[in-house]
Amino acid sequence: MDFIDTLKSRSKLFSIFLIITLSLLVIGAMGTINLRAMKKNLDSLYFGSLVPIVELNSILQTYHDNLAGTLYRAKDAQVAPDELKSEIESAITLIGKEWKSYESHFKRDEELEYVAYTAVELQETNKYFLAVLKAFEDGQDMKNLSFGQLEKKVTHINQVIKKLIKYEIDIAKYERKNFLNIYESLLLKLGVLLVMVILGVMVVSYYVLKSIQLDQSALEASAKKLKIANKKLENASYTDSLTSLFNRRYFNLVYEREIKRAKRNHTFITFMMLDIDYFKQYNDMYGHIKGDAVLKQVASVFQDILKRPSDYVFRLGGEEFGVLLIDTSEISSANVADAICDAVRACEITHDGSKIEKYVTISIGVASCVADSALDEELLMARADEMLYDAKESGRNRYSITTNISAATLHEIEESA
Ligand code: GH3
Ligand code: MG
Ligand code: MG
Repeated sequence: MDFIDTLKSRSKLFSIFLIITLSLLVIGAMGTINLRAMKKNLDSLYFGSLVPIVELNSILQTYHDNLAGTLYRAKDAQVAPDELKSEIESAITLIGKEWKSYESHFKRDEELEYVAYTAVELQETNKYFLAVLKAFEDGQDMKNLSFGQLEKKVTHINQVIKKLIKYEIDIAKYERKNFLNIYESLLLKLGVLLVMVILGVMVVSYYVLKSIQLDQSALEASAKKLKIANKKLENASYTDSLTSLFNRRYFNLVYEREIKRAKRNHTFITFMMLDIDYFKQYNDMYGHIKGDAVLKQVASVFQDILKRPSDYVFRLGGEEFGVLLIDTSEISSANVADAICDAVRACEITHDGSKIEKYVTISIGVASCVADSALDEELLMARADEMLYDAKESGRNRYSITTNISAATLHEIEESA
């Protein structure tokens, strides 16, 4: 029973542990998934907006520094013809590469038209620079180069590319705003999830602990019942079922214990043997069932008189009873025995078979003394038995008492018997 209950409690605690673990795993998984999504967002923000802007800036820079700058220097004859050719060609190649890379990135539909327009404008501008180079190779003097036209071309392409850059920056800002929104909602989602998990764990823990507590209470209640049942069983094993007096089993236990205690404390100890007079005749005349009823009635008379916690009454067997009085003087003991005899007689249970009275009577042998270390418990009993015999012999319905409990006297009794 205990084992099964322990197992039940364990499995309940295990279920709490399992729920907490699963909840943490769910939070962990959700967190990981969302973090990955965040990383992706961050990547697209970085590569989707920053890199194109860098490429466009590089194109802008090349037009400004490498192409326009070279032509300005050429006009002032600061650049050698070979150098001019290679500068212009490599700048145009670089612009082509950067533009190709820029075009390869993801583009929004609304952006496509302007990107195509820019591509055309780039080609037009490149054509202008190549035309200038061709004229120079054909022998034209660079001093005749029109600054106005060069400025116009460079300013125009500058505006076209800057517009594209501005667009990319706007997109980046927009993406960042989106990302922040996602981030906020992710925090909210995780927060809500965490609160739900905590509440769930709290509710489950409450029910599990409550049920463990109920089990505990049930266990305690059944342990209490078991204790009471055991006590009852113990009492039953020490009780005579007919009279509810203590039985001989209990007598064996108490008699020895109380004599030892009296010997230690040097207190009075009294033992009485009680026997119903002419009970055989009663049974013969009225039957066993009525005989049993008499035994019960007599037993209740004993219980009425012997009320002190230190008074013990036993049914020793048949219609014989024993009484043990602790710390009661011989005079008091004699009074008790007398009271018992009177009370049994006063019940007026008709007994036509009795040779001494018309009612049921009882005879009592009393042995009483102050216990000392020499006191022999067997001898005390034998003395009481002897006194019972004496009471019977002296006419019954009476008690006989002795305070002389010595081995010598017992020896005499045995001799006389
Ligand atoms: P005395 O006055 O000398 O004691 O005579 P007595 O007839 O009582 O003699 P004794 O004490 O020897 O008799 C015992 C009788 O008690 C025998 C039996 O009929 C009766 N008896 C013993 N146990 C029981 C019992 O449990 N129920 C009933 N009804 N009778 C019992
Ligand atoms: Mg008897
Ligand atoms: Mg008898």
